[in-house]
Amino acid sequence: MMDFILLGPPGAGKGTQAKLMVDKWNIPQVSTGDILRAAVREGKALGVEAKGFMDRGELVPDRVVIGIIAERLREEDAADGFILDGFPRTIPQAEALQEILDDHGRNIGYVISIEVDDEELVTRLTGRRMCKGCGESFHIVFNPSAEEGVCDRCSGELYQRDDDMEETIRRRLAVYSEQTQPLIAYYEKQGNLRRIDGTGSIEDIFARILEAAGN
Ligand code: ADP
Ligand code: ADP
Ligand code: ZN
Repeated sequence: MMDFILLGPPGAGKGTQAKLMVDKWNIPQVSTGDILRAAVREGKALGVEAKGFMDRGELVPDRVVIGIIAERLREEDAADGFILDGFPRTIPQAEALQEILDDHGRNIGYVISIEVDDEELVTRLTGRRMCKGCGESFHIVFNPSAEEGVCDRCSGELYQRDDDMEETIRRRLAVYSEQTQPLIAYYEKQGNLRRIDGTGSIEDIFARILEAAGN
């Protein structure tokens, strides 16, 4: 059983790397951002509650995302492991996750912290295009789709996220350093943190993740 957490600021490449890990290990990617965006699109109560926070670049309340994860990890496809992408993002979320895992008698394998500096993150996020169908990330310069506006993976439509505007990006980066960065020390203390340089080609970074995960 393999449980992974991908930790890192917005734009670090968590979603991009999670997709490669899914292909390699056949375990699901669990992205709270993807789940929240789907709820917004479908007009669900959850989406209505979350949208304002997301548009401002702030975190959705812990209670909401913890509920999402508790429910998602009970599903059958997560039984043999999962890749958490974008959760936890606060210490209370990390503590709640530990309780959920304890209830299932499982443990976090590795927490992979992907490190990229802020200016590079802004360049990545302002050029990001995301797939409406499968959530794959592309970049207009660094990782363009074969056909403009169309997803390579599922032929879905690519769009620019409302929160990928420079001002909101800066806010998200500040929120990351205030509320999420403390998780690095938290997991370091637990002994399962692996730091990865998140710059270079997507393939190089994936190779670093495999190495850190003992593969
Ligand atoms: P996150 O899920 O951490 O927010 P993404 O995986 O969506 O990050 O990547 C953010 C943006 O950076 C996307 O446009 C993606 O195509 C691009 N990107 C991902 N990995 C790299 C890389 N190694 N070098 C340059 N750009 C990258
Ligand atoms: P990125 O990796 O580009 O920051 P995500 O897709 O992970 O973006 O998240 C988008 C937004 O969804 C966040 O800015 C936040 O508002 C909300 N969100 C996602 N995951 C969480 C979480 N674990 N806790 C609180 N809010 C979250
Ligand atoms: Zn797609």
